Amino acid sequence: MYNEALGDQPNLPGDTVIIETVLFDCWGTLVQAPNLMRRGASTEIFHTILETHGFDIDYSALRDAYILVTRKQNQEARSDWRELDHVERLALTLRSIGFNHPDFNEIVREVWTEYLKEWPKQSTLYDDTTLLLKALRGKYKLGLVTNYPDGPTARKVFRKFRFEEVFDSLVISGEVGYRKPSWIIFERALTELGSNPKDALMVGDTFIADVLGPKKMGMKSILIDADGSEVENHHVADVVVRSIGEVGDALKQLC
Ligand SMILES: [Mg+2]
Repeated sequence: MYNEALGDQPNLPGDTVIIETVLFDCWGTLVQAPNLMRRGASTEIFHTILETHGFDIDYSALRDAYILVTRKQNQEARSDWRELDHVERLALTLRSIGFNHPDFNEIVREVWTEYLKEWPKQSTLYDDTTLLLKALRGKYKLGLVTNYPDGPTARKVFRKFRFEEVFDSLVISGEVGYRKPSWIIFERALTELGSNPKDALMVGDTFIADVLGPKKMGMKSILIDADGSEVENHHVADVVVRSIGEVGDALKQLC
């Protein structure tokens, strides 16, 4: 399938698609952390951490303020997809609901640090991830490109799953300073792998980040749409699957 608006060329009958490189998204694609990824999870955790430190804050006020600050931050960064400052987001949120303390900055930093510790603890692989990666290792150049604000935390998660042994490039938005769908972060992975966009394919669960960005660069894409919520965007992806377990067959279908 192709999308004229993106300037793609359709695959003509008889055309052979050669994919040398497969890039993967991390969370929601290879790795799950349902209690951290569901809507509202971060504010619930911030609230709990603040409570354990003896700060009694109204949860609804915290959540509503966080949503507003996040929206504003996202709008400001949308033109170039630079990485967002999550510590500043938390600080602005707490200030806006009147939280004040002589050690304000230290408290914000501590809450953020404790929140980050949950990611290596709670992240697990999807059932089919290991089998798929084993099957692909050696057949393709493999890379991972994730939107995650804190490099050291993401690398802890990678070490937990020994991703360094599987992927030849592990790229994190918090280290690059730009997030998917920015070409800058994909370019980093492709350069590290010595790959051209036209020979590469991205696998991920977020349409804008994992399909639109890669397609604009001339890459192929497989969208994982687990709950069918992206039906209106399916035509942009080269293949749509329901889970990581279907990616191996999808790749065979493409090549
Ligand atoms: Mg994802």
